[in-house]
Amino acid sequence: PSPDAWRRVDSYLTELLVGADPVLDAAVREQHAAGMPAIEVAPVNGKFLNLLARISGARRVLEIGTLAGYSTIWLARAIPDDGHVITIEAEPANARVARTNLDRAGVGAKVDIRVGRAADVLPTLEGDSPFDLVFIDADKESNTVYLDWAARLGRAGTVVVVDNIGRGGEIADPATTNSQVIGTQRGLEMLARDPRFDATALQTLDRKGYDGVAVAVVI
Ligand code: SAM
Repeated sequence: PSPDAWRRVDSYLTELLVGADPVLDAAVREQHAAGMPAIEVAPVNGKFLNLLARISGARRVLEIGTLAGYSTIWLARAIPDDGHVITIEAEPANARVARTNLDRAGVGAKVDIRVGRAADVLPTLEGDSPFDLVFIDADKESNTVYLDWAARLGRAGTVVVVDNIGRGGEIADPATTNSQVIGTQRGLEMLARDPRFDATALQTLDRKGYDGVAVAVVI
């Protein structure tokens, strides 16, 4: 399909199934005003995360890669008031914008932002586990490290979602030299071979372009 066609379909689906959401719009405005890149999940994908959390009855959610909290708001909305989302963000400036956005969205009490490199923060989360859903969306080079922690901090039945697994089609290039693509490939290979997971992945085409999402369950 032409870009015109899939952008039109994305707008159609977003308007029909996601609808107007002034709180999320404000969060993205703040993100852009703070000079942060437009790398949050698309609205249809945010709602996909929200539905996965609700379908799985998640109460404890772990997110790796907060940015300005756009996906975090979607996840926090999906869990009950006594549930919690722990979201890890390396950049303190991003975490500050996220905190404002989450509080304005009315979900601040459910969300704990841990500032630091995820590889350092994850080993400190044993006491908050097991997580029911883990969303991995940070430095793609570390996806295998994050998947290992998702399994360790999860339980049988934990849902694991890995974003950006299509990368404009480059994911299927065995000769790629892009470290983010190589990290994503290693993560997918781990999902295929590591007996702790069963997984699939879907290609996606939305306002963010041609990409994809992997969904796994911890065995
Ligand atoms: N999940 C967010 C959303 O959809 O709204 C988008 C996250 S953005 C794609 C990736 C984020 O991960 C950035 O804010 C970046 O600062 C953060 N990040 C990158 N490397 C990290 C690391 N090693 N540890 C924790 N966060 C990291």
